[in-house]
Amino acid sequence: MPRTPLPEIIRKLRARYGPPKRMPASGPFELIVWENVAYLVDDERRAQVFRALKQRAGSTPQAVLRAPKKLVLELIGPGGMNPAQRFEKLRAASETMIEIGLARMRTLLRENAAEAKKLLKRFPGIGEPGADKILLFCKSQPTLAPDSNAVRVLVRLGYGKEHKSYAQTYRSVTEAVRAELPRDYNWLIIAHQLLRRHGQETCKRSAPRCEECPLTADCAWYLARWGR
Ligand code: SF4
Repeated sequence: MPRTPLPEIIRKLRARYGPPKRMPASGPFELIVWENVAYLVDDERRAQVFRALKQRAGSTPQAVLRAPKKLVLELIGPGGMNPAQRFEKLRAASETMIEIGLARMRTLLRENAAEAKKLLKRFPGIGEPGADKILLFCKSQPTLAPDSNAVRVLVRLGYGKEHKSYAQTYRSVTEAVRAELPRDYNWLIIAHQLLRRHGQETCKRSAPRCEECPLTADCAWYLARWGR
């Protein structure tokens, strides 16, 4: 079956969900804080915790290191399990960013995305997908950086293949979509957010809600089961 072009998929998702909310974190360090400030909570809660930390303690590496432990634990407490571990990760991320230099990281993001990616993977909680996401939101490399929800949607639509290892599945999907990606970062960020939301709310792992999905005619998974 010929695949529906990605822009058409994203157009349909935008019609269903509307324009995504703006990400509260910006720049490489805030995006690393965003990943580590909360654990297994929804985006709204993560945003509340992130904003509280930014407003009351600060969101630079120096501010995070300067802030009293008691205050940081109080601020990140509502962000899910293991606040003490998250606190340590925030401190480790701050130390690593000071060692690398925020200015150097910003320069690499502008001029050498591959090198920036290597350095980003040194931070806690940042693997290949996390590094790609930071490259995307910093407008450094045109990638879709799909999270696990978006990867599931894309595999079902027919992009790439599911493998035993998530890392392999991720690579297979990002490879399969690459040729269709424009160099329009705003579009890519919106596509990233819409595919994630679709996976979270409709194309769920164990029980996808295909009956309310606008992509049934475009979906290899659906057509293999229910199509004519
Ligand atoms: S039709 Fe079903 S499986 Fe396919 S994208 Fe929609 S919800 Fe997911």
